[in-house]
Amino acid sequence: MNKRTFLKICSAALASPFVTRLAAWASGEKLHNWAGNVEYGTDRVYSAGSLEEVQEFVRKQSKLKVLGTRHCFNHIADSHDQFLSMKAMDKVVSLDAETRTVTIESGMTYGKLCPILETKGWALHNLASLPHISVAGACTTATHGSGVKNGNLSTAVSGLEFVNAAGDVVKLTRAKDAETFQGAVVGLGALGAVTKVTLDIQPTYQMQQYVYENLPLSELSKHFDAIESAAYSVSLFTDWQNKRINEVWLKCRMDKGKSFDAPAEFYGAKRAKTNMHPIAELSAENCTEQMGVPGPWYDRLPHFKMGFTPSAGQELQAEYFVPHKNAVDAILAVEKLRGLVGPHLFITEIRAISADNFWMSPCYKQDSVTIHFTLKPDWPAVSKLLPVIERELTPFHARPHWGKLFTMTPARLDSLYERLPEFVALARKYDPLGKFHNDFLKANVFGGVS
Ligand SMILES: Cc1cc2nc3c(=O)[nH]c(=O)nc-3n(C[C@H](O)[C@H](O)[C@H](O)COP(=O)(O)OP(=O)(O)OC[C@H]3O[C@@H](n4cnc5c(N)ncnc54)[C@H](O)[C@@H]3O)c2cc1C
Repeated sequence: MNKRTFLKICSAALASPFVTRLAAWASGEKLHNWAGNVEYGTDRVYSAGSLEEVQEFVRKQSKLKVLGTRHCFNHIADSHDQFLSMKAMDKVVSLDAETRTVTIESGMTYGKLCPILETKGWALHNLASLPHISVAGACTTATHGSGVKNGNLSTAVSGLEFVNAAGDVVKLTRAKDAETFQGAVVGLGALGAVTKVTLDIQPTYQMQQYVYENLPLSELSKHFDAIESAAYSVSLFTDWQNKRINEVWLKCRMDKGKSFDAPAEFYGAKRAKTNMHPIAELSAENCTEQMGVPGPWYDRLPHFKMGFTPSAGQELQAEYFVPHKNAVDAILAVEKLRGLVGPHLFITEIRAISADNFWMSPCYKQDSVTIHFTLKPDWPAVSKLLPVIERELTPFHARPHWGKLFTMTPARLDSLYERLPEFVALARKYDPLGKFHNDFLKANVFGGVS
């Protein structure tokens, strides 16, 4: 299903919210995720327009899954039964300058929220590589940007409202519900239907973005911490060939009194003379402005502009979080696989994320570095490659991204998440019969039981 068809379905559902096989009605195509590699197990989508409609719908269903913006690459969002979409619920509920928070309905995307915040003089601490994703879907899967001092996007969450399996409204805040809150924010869609999210905001800020080309791997291994700390947000792009990082993206805040002086050379890499795409061969047209041109935070933190196809388009993604202290060894271990990885890879991105307290976050109590793979859309080949990468990363306790492809066993995942038993208990409290479970959650989180 293309974007236009999906929008057609959603607007039809919005005009008359009822349960129907909308996708089949619209085109005969099956509903699938953004990348097109996951065809969902049902095309039944109910679009809710209010909290009451969400409650009523949840009460009536024995099994359902909330659908966000469908940007996950694995089956975490899949359902054989019924989808609930809150795409129509995408308003700012309140903006409180005193507590420095904004409360939004859960269908809101970063692409819609950020310009609203900017016009009122506010900003978020960080963004992912693209603004197209829903805030609720991103936060529930621990989506992240980069920056050694920046937590993932869910660290901005200070309050959560969701509808549990009984159809009751649950409200949790960072201030009042410390432990439960820490279990619920990265909830993997397993606790209920998130209807509102409250996010920390800060005064708006300007940024400059610079790209450097051809950083020798030897320089990276010698100066990893200095390179990762050289700007507010740093992304390293490599194809793993020729012992180099192809591109270093430095996103610099201009409000900290220490603007980046952008030397012509950066640890042996040369400052790019034109805007770049992370995959150098592709046009930079869909990328945010570089070359040090100042601009608002939301137009520099993501790599890709709203309104354009992000990344490569036809692709698969996998990503692994390793403890920051293991990063150089982990990067060098993957580099040894360059011959195997190369034919399947568009590009790798390496980013840093600071630790958080969310039980199911891959950054739980651990400053982390992520090694990400944008791969060609050939699952039979990728499914053979990922176990090799995962084996190489095993000594570094690599945790996979919840929204991307991985082949690690549930037992291995279990061993990587010390708070998993408490998370399972918390999910059962709000959803005793597994109404919000699907095959992915059942296998990877609930030990095969649902
Ligand atoms: C091109 C591209 C670039 C990406 N870049 C990044 C990146 O820079 N960093 C990164 O970390 N990830 C990135 N991702 C991964 C992805 O964006 C995230 O994992 C994110 O979860 C997607 O949010 P979504 O709303 O599309 O979720 P979906 O795929 O729609 O759903 C994901 C999960 O969230 C649940 N969910 C969604 N909304 C709700 C709700 N309201 N209530 C309860 N549960 C809900 C679903 O049930 C499901 O379990 C990228 C993906 C793509 C396609």
